[in-house]
Amino acid sequence: MNHYDAIIIGTGAAGGIVACVLSEAGKHVLLLERGSCLSFADVGRDHLRNQRLAIYGHNAGPDVNGNPRVFVDPQGRSRIVKPYELDYHNNAACVGGGTRVYGAQAWRFHPDDFRMATKYGVPEGSSLADWPISYETLEPFYERAEWELGAAGNGDSIQHQIPRKRNYPLPAVGPSAQTVALQNAARQLGWVTTPVPLLINTEPYGGRAACIKCKYCVGFACPTDAKNGSQNTVIPRALATGTCELKTFAVVETIDTDERGNVSGVSYFDHNGGKPRRQTARAKMVIVSAGAIESARLLLNSRSTLHPAGLGNEHDQVGRNLQGHLYPRAYGISPTKIFDGVGPGVTIATTQFTHNNPGIIGGGMLADDFIKPPIDFWYDSLPPDLPRWGIENKRFMRENYTRVMHVRGPVQDIPSPEGRVTVDATVRDQWGIPVARLSGTTHRATVEAAEFLRQRGEEWMRASGCDKVWSAQPGLILSGRQHQAGTCRMGSDPKSSVTDEWGRVHQHNNLFVVDGSLHVTNGGFNPVLTIMALAFRGAEFIARAI
Ligand SMILES: Cc1cc2nc3c(=O)[nH]c(=O)nc-3n(C[C@H](O)[C@H](O)[C@H](O)COP(=O)(O)OP(=O)(O)OC[C@H]3O[C@@H](n4cnc5c(N)ncnc54)[C@H](O)[C@@H]3O)c2cc1C
Repeated sequence: MNHYDAIIIGTGAAGGIVACVLSEAGKHVLLLERGSCLSFADVGRDHLRNQRLAIYGHNAGPDVNGNPRVFVDPQGRSRIVKPYELDYHNNAACVGGGTRVYGAQAWRFHPDDFRMATKYGVPEGSSLADWPISYETLEPFYERAEWELGAAGNGDSIQHQIPRKRNYPLPAVGPSAQTVALQNAARQLGWVTTPVPLLINTEPYGGRAACIKCKYCVGFACPTDAKNGSQNTVIPRALATGTCELKTFAVVETIDTDERGNVSGVSYFDHNGGKPRRQTARAKMVIVSAGAIESARLLLNSRSTLHPAGLGNEHDQVGRNLQGHLYPRAYGISPTKIFDGVGPGVTIATTQFTHNNPGIIGGGMLADDFIKPPIDFWYDSLPPDLPRWGIENKRFMRENYTRVMHVRGPVQDIPSPEGRVTVDATVRDQWGIPVARLSGTTHRATVEAAEFLRQRGEEWMRASGCDKVWSAQPGLILSGRQHQAGTCRMGSDPKSSVTDEWGRVHQHNNLFVVDGSLHVTNGGFNPVLTIMALAFRGAEFIARAI
């Protein structure tokens, strides 16, 4: 079969949900994924190769060779980067996308995150804007994501900030020794705290086992399949309908249009390690769910005589406003051993500073961290005055691995139109497709918010009884990485947005973007639950429209 009701590009957080909703509505779906279906063994347990700390190697794609990007630093110098480098801004390339190896923090955005421009005004040089939908509109779809994939949390704890109609299906992860210290300190400071919501089975759910509290979580696959991603929840449901065809190793090159400029299908390379073959497939609807950087790249690469700047790019909006999160963090040495080795490790957060911080636009959340393999601890968590190697370093590691406390969290990005994805004029990937070129920075107001949160992190460490406390000053950089979002933002004005509120590309009735690209702003929280909620909402609309 070569003609489908819908072709979906990408099997990540959003693409998996769209495939599930459409195929359960009886539609014939072709689901294309450039990566493979990675088993637990494929992802592996090598500390040096994990998708979170990828500088020594990564484990969930894309391949090191043949998939370059071009990165332009804030001084304007450009260089070719590989997927394990920080400046690549990688997420993942496999069935499940980022959700195969993510940490699974499952936050809803705050109601004010949807109306940032109204609440704060638009700082000069930024593209801060309101969403075309409110939190209340998205609320039922957040609930659906939590219940259909399986989320654990305590809904009552921050009901006054982020109201919900129904509690989580699963109880929150239990406290650790560190939780107790952080909770007591927050109480002393007068800060609100909550257990961290996670898309992890704290009890058996969805026909899969519970978390066994091992030490490998973020950056790895789960040994009991208790971490809920697209690959073990919505994609199996889609495939069970018999109307969804999944093709792996299928790299979409372009979205095709007919002689009148209407979207007709896609061209892709089908390879499976062998000689690549160029294929085409046709459909009534094309849905781009390739993640914020690759979705923008695909639209920009889909040029034709009638669409010389790419699809949806009449007003030069595709690829702009790339956002992610600056991640301020603070560390301290606890007087007692606080590390109990019980995974996933992240247990408690404060949402005290998500909004209404004097002189700051937005804000963010701070939480304790996932259990770190020793290499992550060595790379990320040592005091700046400690030698990076040698006997002193080893002694510190031995004595303090169980005592260093750490809080960190995502700060709301204040977007800049100059933080962007374009396609490079000369560099191509192994299929001959022009690669993504990443340039610009976030807005300086993001750095101010990150600095404010860094100070709050240090305050939390001190109140927890830590004697030595440290942190690093945030800088003005391009924001994106694993929380990448915003490159095809939704809105009602085609001059300042790429899609309408459903993800439908302006001026194209049958072309949709459904993934992190849609986020007008990226909240002061990890983004995946919002990506999932938008995907449920958009997919319901698409199912009705086919
Ligand atoms: C280590 C790690 C930890 C994380 N932890 C968290 C967390 O705790 N909480 C949270 O909220 N978020 C977390 N994230 C981020 C989260 O995974 C992403 O926000 C989310 O997966 C993005 O969803 P998406 O649908 O936009 O894109 P993705 O999930 O990235 O999916 C895009 C898919 O499209 C495929 N694709 C791209 N281009 C093409 C093409 N041309 N042809 C065919 N297929 C293509 C990709 O291979 C990929 O599978 C984490 C990510 C990582 C890697």
